[in-house]
Amino acid sequence: MEVKTSLLDNMIGVGDMVLLEPLSEDSFLENLRNRFDHNEIYTYIGSVVISMNPYRSLPIFTPDKVEEYRNRNFYELSPHIYALADEAYRSLRDQDKDQCILITGESGAGKTEASKLVMSYVAAVCGKGQEVNKVKEQLLQSNPVLEAFGNAKTVRNDNSSRFGKYMDIEFDFKGDPLGGVISNYLLEKSRVVKQPRGERNFHIFYQLLSGASEDTLKKLKLDRDFSKYNYLSLDSAAVNGLDDAANFRTVRIVGFMEDEVQSVLELVAAVLKLGNIEFKHESRCNGTDESRIKDKNDLKEMCELLGIEQSVLERAFSYRTVEAKMEKVSTTLNVAQAYYARDALAKNLYSRLFSWLVTRINESIKVSESIYDLVFNQFLSALVFNALDQLIILRPGIEWTNIEYFNNAIICDLIENNQNGILAMLDEECLRPGTVTDETFLDKLNTICAEHQHFESRLSKNSKFLTDHSLPHNCFRIQHYAGKVLYRVEGFVDKNNDLLYRDLSQAMYKANHSLIKQLFPEGNPAKVNLKRPPTAGSQFKTSVGTLMKNLQTKNPNYIRCIKPNDKKASHIFTDSLVRHQVRYLGLMENVRVRRAGYAFRQAYEPCLERYKMLCKNTWPHWRGPAREGVEVLMADLQVPAEEFSYGRSKIFIRNPRTLFFLEERRRQ
Ligand code: ATP
Ligand code: MG
Repeated sequence: MEVKTSLLDNMIGVGDMVLLEPLSEDSFLENLRNRFDHNEIYTYIGSVVISMNPYRSLPIFTPDKVEEYRNRNFYELSPHIYALADEAYRSLRDQDKDQCILITGESGAGKTEASKLVMSYVAAVCGKGQEVNKVKEQLLQSNPVLEAFGNAKTVRNDNSSRFGKYMDIEFDFKGDPLGGVISNYLLEKSRVVKQPRGERNFHIFYQLLSGASEDTLKKLKLDRDFSKYNYLSLDSAAVNGLDDAANFRTVRIVGFMEDEVQSVLELVAAVLKLGNIEFKHESRCNGTDESRIKDKNDLKEMCELLGIEQSVLERAFSYRTVEAKMEKVSTTLNVAQAYYARDALAKNLYSRLFSWLVTRINESIKVSESIYDLVFNQFLSALVFNALDQLIILRPGIEWTNIEYFNNAIICDLIENNQNGILAMLDEECLRPGTVTDETFLDKLNTICAEHQHFESRLSKNSKFLTDHSLPHNCFRIQHYAGKVLYRVEGFVDKNNDLLYRDLSQAMYKANHSLIKQLFPEGNPAKVNLKRPPTAGSQFKTSVGTLMKNLQTKNPNYIRCIKPNDKKASHIFTDSLVRHQVRYLGLMENVRVRRAGYAFRQAYEPCLERYKMLCKNTWPHWRGPAREGVEVLMADLQVPAEEFSYGRSKIFIRNPRTLFFLEERRRQ
């Protein structure tokens, strides 16, 4: 069965878009559709892998498949993500070339699954041995924890990554993994306190409530019923095909100590309790409006969980202390401010916990000092990078469209332009808490646009800020290199701004709970820092800047993920949706670039047929095997040996000029 399928593979459409004739957007789509209909979810554009999400499990990720692709020439077998993983791994091992694997595509297109396939392939083919196996296991095991805390059900994807991930794995000269470092970018923390309609909070909350034992729940003072918690949306608690309870058990296996797990769960529980704390108005005789906690039970339980003195937290929810020039001024919080403070605390608790988890995982997978020293000069690294897509951008994934050239116009516009970039403007706006809203931010963008005919100077030279009255409410549009992108400002300000009042970080620092204390170091009264903490936008700027620099030193491998339909369904290929992705991923341009300058490969049979006329020994008939005929041909034409190589079933030509040479000769 297996053999039959792979023989058939060769016949379904064209495996490499570079060889597609004639080339047009329609033929490109038709080829994708044809292959998709026959379970061929991978198609190449030269060395780029296009991956269509099948939305069901296909029998093409078995150990047998791994064996099949192992140590084979990239173009020898039918297109597969394993071929790319193998190529990257082998150039790393054999040629000392640092590799990075860039996985792009919109939400639900299959980036996370692709990154797991790459990791599992590399884990399967690299060295064995106790030490190595331990490293591999830990690298692979980091996924369930990161997904539990960093993924959530959205309308686009039931398991959407709400953070950007970048994984750096180091290998020794034998090609064995030594360890790795995971970096996380900008968790979408606003989700902790509020989710869009039809979406859920992060998986862990539901996993804990459905999967924990009665005993654990009792210790955490939790109720199994989701609807008891304000922070958990009511309408979308159960997700088809997601077994929260079972996933909770996998999350727990990771190599954490029992008391660490307990602390982590206490924090998760505390966030749920925090969401249930509500405030009411209380008018004071002096005319001011103050807030009071409605029912103190949740506050009490949260304080018990975290070892915080109740009065300290209660005070922190009622007053805000502003320290200016050696003076401390306390002002009372009104109800809106108290809710803002509560939510800011929840977001900070959760996102700091997430960063702590990443750090903790990194400790367990880091390259140990002694080994690192030994191989310092030879160490190689591979990066598995999961595109950042949850930020504040309307169409997730798109910001990486043009990453190939490492000066992604969108990144430049939004991020790199320190003085005038849109994020910098957003930061400016956020300096005026209380008065700024998404709408005022948009107004400002539009005003500046109207004032300066040359607003483009605020963007990179390839892009334009476009404004017109036909835009939907709350939107602006930027003409990027790859096309127009509509950005919705909803949540921009909120997501960028989550100022935590000092009183609250001090209350957290006072907790008799070592994890919480660690997470709020700025609450240490000995450390008075009047500087405003960096906003989400500016943190993102810094981390992406570092990432970009790092990536430029590696050899890039690209996986472009495409979502076939927006129903999360198998077997459906929605033409318009795929066309749209083909456009903004710039795939047609990709084919043209590759056609102009990349390796050409052809099976021996057709190659001999096409060029045998050029040599008297092969013309008009060649009686031996096709491969030998091609060898005779190449020798006769005196094509330099370094210009091509012989694969199992195909000839590989390095430079298009050789091809042009052959074609020219045919025409003479
Ligand atoms: P997001 O940007 O929202 O994180 P994503 O690009 O990471 O999205 P994935 O989570 O990888 O998308 O994929 C979405 C879903 O599609 C998966 O949960 C799975 O159900 C299905 N899927 C993706 N790739 C595959 C595959 N190779 N085989 C089977 N199912 C897949
Ligand atoms: Mg993902």
